[in-house]
Amino acid sequence: MKVAIKDNICTKDMPTTCSSEMLRDFTSPFDATVVSLLHQAGAHIVGKTNCDEFGMGSLNTHSIHGPVINPWKSLSSDITPRSAGGSSGGSAAAVAAGLCDVALGTDTGGSVRLPASYCGVVGLKPSYGLLSRWGVVSYSDSLDCVGILTRNTKDIADVFPVLNDYDAKDPTSIPLPVRAKASKLLSVHTFSRWNRDASYLSGLRIGIPQEYFPAEIQSSVVSPIRALFTELRGLGATLVPVSLPSTSYALSAYYVIASAEASSNLARFTGIEYGTHVGPPPEADLTKASRVYAHSRSNGFGREVQKRILLGTYALSADAFDNYFLQAQRVRKLVKRDFDHVFAVPNVLSSSPSEASSQSKVDVIMHPSAIRTAPPIDSGSESLDTYVQDTLTVPASLAGLPALSVPAGTADDGWPVGVSVVGQWGCDELVLRVGEIVQ
Ligand code: GLN
Repeated sequence: MKVAIKDNICTKDMPTTCSSEMLRDFTSPFDATVVSLLHQAGAHIVGKTNCDEFGMGSLNTHSIHGPVINPWKSLSSDITPRSAGGSSGGSAAAVAAGLCDVALGTDTGGSVRLPASYCGVVGLKPSYGLLSRWGVVSYSDSLDCVGILTRNTKDIADVFPVLNDYDAKDPTSIPLPVRAKASKLLSVHTFSRWNRDASYLSGLRIGIPQEYFPAEIQSSVVSPIRALFTELRGLGATLVPVSLPSTSYALSAYYVIASAEASSNLARFTGIEYGTHVGPPPEADLTKASRVYAHSRSNGFGREVQKRILLGTYALSADAFDNYFLQAQRVRKLVKRDFDHVFAVPNVLSSSPSEASSQSKVDVIMHPSAIRTAPPIDSGSESLDTYVQDTLTVPASLAGLPALSVPAGTADDGWPVGVSVVGQWGCDELVLRVGEIVQ
């Protein structure tokens, strides 16, 4: 099995640059746990893949290695190159182009699912805390997940168990008894009603959240998704309209939390302990360590990363903390509560009981993975539009839920459209099984 690894996951045989000047010459002295597990399973690691710097971006244009071009359509002069999505664009493109069978990415707010959707491949963001983050360069550690990209859902279902294990080296790794409890709840609440071995869906309840068809969505993205929903009904699934009312606040909350955590996580790159050292000009006062930091950080980090650090530092400052960081954490709770209200399987990690009547509860929810097909590569990667690409992926990230993007046909422009299957925390097996049938 040929595997490619996103360049923010440590490998001792190859450099780990995070697509940043700051780590241009860095090679890790150890493998990340997920890489060791792949080696043990006999995988052949064929290379590292381009990404947005430290995982920050949605188009894979913020990289010292240059942008990733979407391989969906062969490049010819009459086709405007399109983005492979970000931040795991290199991983999705490598899978789509057949350069490897499997690629690992990381997904903090959609970075596996968005590239999967844009490139016409499958991408899983597992439940938070199932796959070890040890050796994965932290961007926003309360959200970061290692994800898997392949051409078929079945291949993810084969690789996922290899990586899905408790790791004592990762303090956020979920202990085995909690995993076992989640599996049991899934068996009791869903697999007792729906036969996972069957190729039909009778007994399965799929929630369609109305908030996931916002005004910004391209209408031709919706058509293949609607056609798919009709097919699923034909296979026996019950489609249930559901509401996740806090969805519209999720994107703002995500960018506050992710930037705040990034500002803290990236503080270690000073050019002294970690990162490329860029000395100040000779006339500078060398006794001031802060000048060394400033020069290394100004030269080592790209514009987007610097922007996030500034935003995050501001959100954590005494003046802004209550209005930004705390509010964002409140929204995060509401987003989690929304999901807990609609899922039939209770959340093993949360204490709040589910309030919905069993009539309206669902096993998974399904929605478009992205509001559009892959954007042209030069469509302005500094604008707020880039952040809007993540509208449909960030809620599952804030709630730590498993989410799988599966190809669901093409839009009018001939570019791929992805559909996302999202489950309760710990229901990764369910999400993959539904994904296999959908694909
Ligand atoms: N586009 C989002 C961001 O820039 C998500 C990135 C990710 O999931 N790594 O934060």
